[in-house]
Amino acid sequence: MKINEIIAEQQKYFSSNATKDVSFRIKQLKKLKQLLKENEGLLYKAIYQDFAKSEFETYVSELSLLYGEINTFLKHIKKWSKRKRVPTGLVNFPAKSYIIPEPLGMTLIIGAWNYPYQLSLLPAVTSLAAGNTVILKPSELSAETSRVMAEIINNNFPAGYFHVVEGDAAVTTELLGYRFDKIFFTGSIPTGKIIYSAAAKHLTPVTLELGGKSPAFVLPGCDMKTTAKRIVWAKFLNAGQTCIAPDYILVERSLEPSLLEALAGETEKHYNFENGLPDNYTKIINAKRFDRLMELIDKEKIYYGGQTGKADRFIGPTILKDVSFDDEVMKEEIFGPILPVLAFDDLDMAVRQVKSMPKPLACYVYSGNRKTIGKILQALSFGGGAVNDSVMHFSNPRLPFGGVGHSGIGAYHGKTGFDTFSHYKSILDKPFWFEPNLKYAPYTPQKLRLIKWLME
Ligand code: NAD
Repeated sequence: MKINEIIAEQQKYFSSNATKDVSFRIKQLKKLKQLLKENEGLLYKAIYQDFAKSEFETYVSELSLLYGEINTFLKHIKKWSKRKRVPTGLVNFPAKSYIIPEPLGMTLIIGAWNYPYQLSLLPAVTSLAAGNTVILKPSELSAETSRVMAEIINNNFPAGYFHVVEGDAAVTTELLGYRFDKIFFTGSIPTGKIIYSAAAKHLTPVTLELGGKSPAFVLPGCDMKTTAKRIVWAKFLNAGQTCIAPDYILVERSLEPSLLEALAGETEKHYNFENGLPDNYTKIINAKRFDRLMELIDKEKIYYGGQTGKADRFIGPTILKDVSFDDEVMKEEIFGPILPVLAFDDLDMAVRQVKSMPKPLACYVYSGNRKTIGKILQALSFGGGAVNDSVMHFSNPRLPFGGVGHSGIGAYHGKTGFDTFSHYKSILDKPFWFEPNLKYAPYTPQKLRLIKWLME
């Protein structure tokens, strides 16, 4: 189907008001969940073909979150879609006031490749739950997962309601020529800017889920073994190709040796490369990204790891030490299994350094001192994060997920996502039987006195 035909179908479908019926939405979400369950085998196979992501990681970091989010909507959608009464105040007596949630209309969702199911389907599910129609454009870099999503969705939903359009930047550019009622984008900062300016031409609201360099502070009082275990899991999950992975570690200098030792020990325990590439370790998405990551590894600074294989697009977990902010690896988001460790002497200076950089998507603080934790959480602005953990804040649908500043605009997950894809229509509803002359001309000092008395 051509893009202009899909757009025409979607406009027609939304105008029919079919999606405004909450029971219709519930039925569609149940159907989607069922389809995903029935096709799990295909989903696992496709993602393995794209970048060797294991079934375990795919379930834990993609499908389970998707099922969880669908369940959240199925549970709450009726309540969230209801009009909500709010107090009116004396000025409008005897009116009542209420807010009606309504869908925005035709929405465009542009996904990234690194969690190809979750980052495409989770916003799609949210948009459908709020009563919109969806055109989904997954990333062309994960071609098999894009193909399998198109197959499952396009064979089972009308194009006017939910449709996958596959393709690269040229296809996205064509889509962006049309007016959508909402664009939800996940990807890099440079592409985010392109999306934002294309949306501005149509005054289309956007949510931009972008990236950045997310620090992890390791400070006195932390349990070093558990700290290292949690960081190693969060960093090397998906071979570091996670937008909220700890990008680098800032450690107090006295803790550096024990941290490095614990990081290496934990990595060794969970990723063993003695017999070749283990099947629980993901590949780098393509040769271009592989080459770029290789340029970021300063061989002289490798403390642990450094095994690589170009043919397999494989980079083993690699820990770098004695890194400074001037190093190449600190100049861009790494988005791969390279973990630089930077030691500092003065926490305030380290915080100031982070503050001088673009606001990150995430920040993690490992410490036993609540006062220090509070100080860092207050001093730094970032999308979201965790205390004494990494990445797992993403899994709580009650925590809005999104960036701030360069790391993004807007948020989703759970009720926040429902809000992101809804308009809240405010209504003042008045009977005819009471109409005082207070606001009407002729304006008199008595009327003004009375208004002031009411308002102040
Ligand atoms: P990307 O910006 O290259 O691609 C994202 C999407 O934009 C793809 O669908 C792609 O086809 C499309 N696209 C690419 N170039 C385009 C152009 N010129 N015009 C129109 N569309 C274009 O990003 P990526 O490589 O897929 O993802 C990596 C980045 O995404 C990292 O920076 C990462 O931090 C970020 N990310 C953020 C989140 C989040 O939730 N905040 C999640 C995952 C990834």
